[in-house]
Amino acid sequence: MRTVTAYATPAAKAPFEKTTIERRDVGPHDVLIKIAFAGICHSDIHTGRAEWGPVNFPLVPGHEIAGVVEEVGVDVTNYAVGDRVGVGCMVDSCRECDNCRAGEQQYCTGNADVPRMIGTYNGIGRDGRPTAGGYSTHIVVDENYVLRIPDALELDVAAPLLCAGITLFSPLNHWQAGPGKKVAIVGMGGLGHLGVKIAHAMGAEVTVLSQSLSKQEDGRRFGADHYYATSDRNMFKELRGTFDLIVNTVSASLPIGQYLSLLKLDGTLVNVGAPAEPQEVPVFALIGARRSWAGSNIGGIPETQQMLDFCAEHGIGAEIETIGADRIDEAWDRVVGSDVRYRFVIDAATFES
Ligand SMILES: [Zn+2]
Ligand SMILES: [Zn+2]
Repeated sequence: MRTVTAYATPAAKAPFEKTTIERRDVGPHDVLIKIAFAGICHSDIHTGRAEWGPVNFPLVPGHEIAGVVEEVGVDVTNYAVGDRVGVGCMVDSCRECDNCRAGEQQYCTGNADVPRMIGTYNGIGRDGRPTAGGYSTHIVVDENYVLRIPDALELDVAAPLLCAGITLFSPLNHWQAGPGKKVAIVGMGGLGHLGVKIAHAMGAEVTVLSQSLSKQEDGRRFGADHYYATSDRNMFKELRGTFDLIVNTVSASLPIGQYLSLLKLDGTLVNVGAPAEPQEVPVFALIGARRSWAGSNIGGIPETQQMLDFCAEHGIGAEIETIGADRIDEAWDRVVGSDVRYRFVIDAATFES
């Protein structure tokens, strides 16, 4: 065991405290990463405030991790000391089920030892100990769940790609956003702004559907061809039957039927935002144009690497505001109030200062 510095929330809605945690010894297939930056994801907050079910407190959140390899196990072949690497939402999975074998580890159906993908925090590792995330100086992760960050990407703007980036890349990739396709991104926050950049780089015609026009200039700069305020109810008439694909990043309840009506024949509306309440869907909106309503959860390890390589090739990073560890509580409140453009990243050097 190795003792490292971390920031933990001791209970739901309790302020963060500087503390120490134990990281496991570097096993034969493990990589020890010195963390440089950790993104703040809205999921950290839902989990830390116990809004998504039981939590192992004290909780060290963080699943948008970028850093540098400091030590490798004897059997590690993919990484060497000094490599620039990332860790996203999972640190292991059963590796045996059909989905794991297909590289879709995020949909792991589990085996006797590992019932599902092991979350980077608030999970239980193979050693039976709770997992702890990126709000810390170091993390030990099996090399098979570590991503390579290409040299063309700075570590700070790369960190949010590990969750927010792959959350948008995966559905855009799966439903084949590209030239000739009309894609709408609903919501222009931490997730949505990366969706606009990625869909544009894929060659799609991109429309943002945001609550207001306040971020329109940014949206255009990120590559949006069109920008509409959803508060303008005429929009739903004007854009009826327009899109091949709509990716909904909003985790509040929306009138799903109205959004479905914006799809053309065979179009798909994909939810990556997850409202706590069940959503009602008017089935006629589906039947009327053979439309689909789907969901998507992050991406597998191979696809996450594909996303990082794609973002490096196209110069895509997150728009970030970098903070020190002393400002995590304030940042969480601001994320809840949608007061960030567009992602907070914690400078991990400040965990120790
Ligand atoms: Zn996340
Ligand atoms: Zn599995």
